[in-house]
Amino acid sequence: TTSYGGRSMTPLDEAIAHVLAGCRPLPPASTPAAGARGRVLAADVVAAEPVPSFANTAMDGYAVRAADVAVVPVTLPVVAEVAAGHPAPRPLAAGEAMRIFTGAPVPEGADAVVMVERTERRDGGKAVEIQVSVDVGNHVREPGEDLHAGQRVFGAGDELTPARLGVLASLGIDEVTVHPRPRVGVMSTGDELVTGSAPLQPGQIRDSNRPALLALVEHAGFEPVDLGRAPDDEAAIAAGLARGVTTCDAVLTSGGVSMGDIDLVKVVLDRLGDMRWMQVAIRPAKPLAFGVVRSPDKRSVPVFGLPGNPVSSLVSFELFARPGLRRLAGYPHPRVHRPRMAATADEALTRRPDGKTHFVRVLAEAGERGALHVRSSGGQGSHQLAAMARANALAVLPDGDGVTLGGRVEVILLDEPPTQGWA
Ligand code: AMP
Ligand code: MG
Repeated sequence: TTSYGGRSMTPLDEAIAHVLAGCRPLPPASTPAAGARGRVLAADVVAAEPVPSFANTAMDGYAVRAADVAVVPVTLPVVAEVAAGHPAPRPLAAGEAMRIFTGAPVPEGADAVVMVERTERRDGGKAVEIQVSVDVGNHVREPGEDLHAGQRVFGAGDELTPARLGVLASLGIDEVTVHPRPRVGVMSTGDELVTGSAPLQPGQIRDSNRPALLALVEHAGFEPVDLGRAPDDEAAIAAGLARGVTTCDAVLTSGGVSMGDIDLVKVVLDRLGDMRWMQVAIRPAKPLAFGVVRSPDKRSVPVFGLPGNPVSSLVSFELFARPGLRRLAGYPHPRVHRPRMAATADEALTRRPDGKTHFVRVLAEAGERGALHVRSSGGQGSHQLAAMARANALAVLPDGDGVTLGGRVEVILLDEPPTQGWA
């Protein structure tokens, strides 16, 4: 722990390490590659065959022997046409040419392709005048030029991106062993919370954390499970959590973890599992509870007690829950985390020393040559969700006085920054 002004806090790195230690990749399963986008491989993928599997032409033109076109122009008889998917009827003999189309197998006996633009049809297409000499192998894609048989193509921990799914298809692999998509329950707590559009009664606020967290879960590639809202009532909180732990791979709660809270979430969680209650040395999102609960069917289910303040809740998700959930999904270190980049502060981002790292909601924009620039996205109170919603990055301000105008600052990108310079 670290302390400031007599209060002890958990360093951010320690809190993250504690969370990640409690999150293990979900047991892998074999699944069809179709529909596995975004899943993480649990085993290496090895090519059983070369890609391409046969020599084929990269160009429309004429298959020849390079030796036959050493002196040009030269006119050769066109003895066949070779189209993609249709091998040549016979080998190419010395002094012959075959018309060939992109992707078609290069006929046996041919060792080069002359592109059609460097030729002229003769004799009604029965012959062709070749106007350039070519080297052996010209425009020929050799077997294995993309992948060779026996090659380790992807490793455990690699996410199945669209291009990787394309590669798997190119190898004829239609089943993959991956970590399943984590099912993540989200429950909000608080007597003051209401949903829907009805006018607010005195003291009521609208439950904004649950929809936002459910959407974050979905956006991160996981399956959101709405566990509803529990009032500050022990039995209701216990029932919601029990449902979450039974039906989900991880559970997020919001509210009830602050210092002065009516300790019901605490009471219930402490009964369920070995929770650690932390005051992390950060702002916003200082309070965090984390623990692993045994489900009735003996699974270890990480439970995140996120703070109730709307901005804190979302920042806490970014810093702790998302990495933990990505670990469940199979991502290795450091890919559980969002990328951190260097940026220039286009305005001063000030703060006061308080022993904490501050995460300032900022707008990041890529300017000249892609250099990132940031400015505050608005009010930085932990209840000011609108500024969080305008932000696409969190600026990381270590303990101290912040950054001055033009200073360098580290940012965590939450979304793609708009880039100047695209037409
Ligand atoms: P708590 O952590 O329960 O003490 O809540 C801290 C602050 O966040 C209080 O102002 C709550 O009213 C507010 N809050 C708690 N839960 C939510 C929620 N689901 N949506 C919006 N605000 C919330
Ligand atoms: Mg509360």
